[in-house]
Amino acid sequence: MYRVIFFDLDDTLFDRTAALRGWVTSQLGSLDAATLAWVIELDDRGRRPRLHFAAGVIERFGMHRTVCELASAFPSELAHHVEPEAGVRETVERLARDRRVAIVTNGGAAQRDKLQRAGLADVVEQVFVSGELGIAKPESGIFECALAWSEAAPGECLFVGDDPINDIAPAAALGMATAWLPRGPWVGSQPPGLTIHSITELARYA
Ligand SMILES: [Mg+2]
Repeated sequence: MYRVIFFDLDDTLFDRTAALRGWVTSQLGSLDAATLAWVIELDDRGRRPRLHFAAGVIERFGMHRTVCELASAFPSELAHHVEPEAGVRETVERLARDRRVAIVTNGGAAQRDKLQRAGLADVVEQVFVSGELGIAKPESGIFECALAWSEAAPGECLFVGDDPINDIAPAAALGMATAWLPRGPWVGSQPPGLTIHSITELARYA
């Protein structure tokens, strides 16, 4: 049993693409499938720099906002469309009964809104947000902050995430066990320790 479980947030504990679809509908109305796919591709699961995303959206759809306005408002607007995924809260709550559970996430203040909307804010013990710490995944510093908080050895920790580069590789490099939740193809050099297809599977492994 792992003494500590760290979770990524976007696309690990909720479906970011579903939230993005909700945002698109609220801002741009109902789009055809190809145009919606274009927006999803532009966002690149949150990896696209926010200003580039905003510039692309405004160039294509001509919203009545400046690029900077959209770029700064987008994270909290997106957070409003986050919905809990079936079974996730129950699983995390169960895991948190006899071990430490924390979030390690890239982003700013909106990450805490997302956690709230996903129904998880009261079941995790600690949240490490890159924008608050000034260091982002995949840099080791944010993982080291989390490890120091946990007071556990890396081998006693499981890191769960969807991103091979930002989550799995750096956690494994520090000696943590890893569980990958695929939302796209595997692109890392070394395979993840575990591959899971739903957070609920973790109840078996942890
Ligand atoms: Mg993620």
